[in-house]
Amino acid sequence: MKLILLGAPGAGKGTVAKLLTKLDGSVQISTGDILRGAVQAGSELGKQAEAYMKAGDLVPDELIMGIMEKRLQEPDCQKGFLLDGFPRTIPQAEALKQLLAKLGIELDMAVNIDVPRDVILDRLTTRRTCSNAECQAIYNVKSNPPKKEGVCDKCGSPVVQREDETEEAISHRLQTYNDKTAPLIGFYDKEGMLLTVTATSSDAVIDAIQKKLAA
Ligand code: ADP
Ligand code: ZN
Repeated sequence: MKLILLGAPGAGKGTVAKLLTKLDGSVQISTGDILRGAVQAGSELGKQAEAYMKAGDLVPDELIMGIMEKRLQEPDCQKGFLLDGFPRTIPQAEALKQLLAKLGIELDMAVNIDVPRDVILDRLTTRRTCSNAECQAIYNVKSNPPKKEGVCDKCGSPVVQREDETEEAISHRLQTYNDKTAPLIGFYDKEGMLLTVTATSSDAVIDAIQKKLAA
């Protein structure tokens, strides 16, 4: 399947993407994971992106499109892909449309994961992430803690609170989402590609996606 996952930070895009990869071998492409990996590696891309990310601001569209143009042409994308955290602005959505036309790729749909704001806030403040750039497993201190406190079940690295998950950066990210990313819902609706799922469980989101793909 070839999907765009839309939704506020904390809506569960990453969790849903990971579950979907198990169904048919589609790959998860998370621009946030790619950028955090680049920051940790200290690459040129990482240096350019770091300050924006720390403040909870969006990284410039040109940097993101450069990443995605390369990534979408890698062979593992042929089975399908789940775009998690991209596109994030109308210019990115326009550029993606052109890029896909150029590459001859057709998307199935854009899924808007719609979660109430109080649930989002609660999730973001209790979310913890594995600090190993190769892993980036996600935990939640309340609902899904690692077996050993502060240690990743999968790789043994420290599990930490992301630098952009302080209260201040979170409210800034949510504001940025409302201003820059929420307009994509209308964009994909107009394209006739939108599926909105109002659900707080990732299983319910997966079910709705599978039903729509089968219809
Ligand atoms: P979340 O969805 O939880 O906010 P992500 O991991 O998707 O977090 O993104 C973290 C940060 O990486 C964003 O706040 C932003 O600075 C940057 N980023 C990720 N994807 C994009 C994108 N498509 N365009 C611009 N910036 C991005
Ligand atoms: Zn880990």
